[in-house]
Amino acid sequence: MRIFDLEEEKLKREIMKLEAKKVLLQLPEGLKPEAPRLAKLIQKLGAMPIISADPCYGACDLALQDAEALGADLIVHFGHTKMLKHERIPTLYIEARANLNIEKPVKKALALLKDYKKIGLATTVQHIHMLENAKELLLEADKTVAVGDAGCLPYAGQVTGCNYSNVKAVKKEVEAFLFLGGGRFHAIGVELASGKPTVVADPYEKRTFTVEKETKRIISQRWAAIEEAKEAKNIGIIIGLKTGQKRTEEAEKIREKLVKAGKNAFLLALREITPETLMQFPTLEAYVNTACPRVGFDEASKFPKPVLTPEAFAVMLGEKSWEKLCSGGWFGN
Ligand code: SF4
Repeated sequence: MRIFDLEEEKLKREIMKLEAKKVLLQLPEGLKPEAPRLAKLIQKLGAMPIISADPCYGACDLALQDAEALGADLIVHFGHTKMLKHERIPTLYIEARANLNIEKPVKKALALLKDYKKIGLATTVQHIHMLENAKELLLEADKTVAVGDAGCLPYAGQVTGCNYSNVKAVKKEVEAFLFLGGGRFHAIGVELASGKPTVVADPYEKRTFTVEKETKRIISQRWAAIEEAKEAKNIGIIIGLKTGQKRTEEAEKIREKLVKAGKNAFLLALREITPETLMQFPTLEAYVNTACPRVGFDEASKFPKPVLTPEAFAVMLGEKSWEKLCSGGWFGN
């Protein structure tokens, strides 16, 4: 059995319903190997599949402009839930739910949760259908369970790389969070956004671990980045060109504030924000990034200069306190 359900029947139905002639497939990195198989399936229906080979990290990066440029009449976006309010081109979101058992890692996680009674649950859309099962296991272990629903994401308990509103909705009621899913990226977000210890139950590797070391490292790096940016005279403000990351007005406001504070401020527009692209501007000493808040955040040491989120920039200017930032204000939601 495949790990991820790519809902091929739904995909076929949508193509036939829309009588789509050209279909642009967009998959995140881990699912890209499935693209040729899906393309064959689409071809059999008489439509022309085009695989978007560019990196894709979230629904913020929906390939609308590419689809327009290619003349596609349907985008099929895998692995994320809808983020944009309106799409100019019909778009089908396939959530890629994981067919994995959560029981073992959740039971293992109980050892790391032994000192806490009130537990919050969070996960990504891939495992959202496992939340109920995890909740039952926690209740059996005599815990109380809270699943947040702030109404900003399609599912209660869901998180994305930059949206932890569901975690924040229940953080005051819980002592610790249990995150269901693979890797550390989202769990770090949960711990930073909640300020509560977060334990990971990883159904891929059937293991459990904490992310305390990583969040502590990130917090101390953020402090150093803000202090360094305060000293900078020349600052770049990043405008992301990905569809759901473009915040031009916010970038312009930040520019005004920097100019008022006596800094030289430059607006930079780009799609992929990498250390290599920023290295092309050696006279810029710091950046404020209005695009994806996780860029230059988790792996700050890879970037040549400090990259601040708008929230950290507010601390730099003295508009917001460091304590407020550390009590869950990292990603602005
Ligand atoms: S903005 Fe960044 S963290 Fe948010 S969905 Fe897009 S890629 Fe993920």
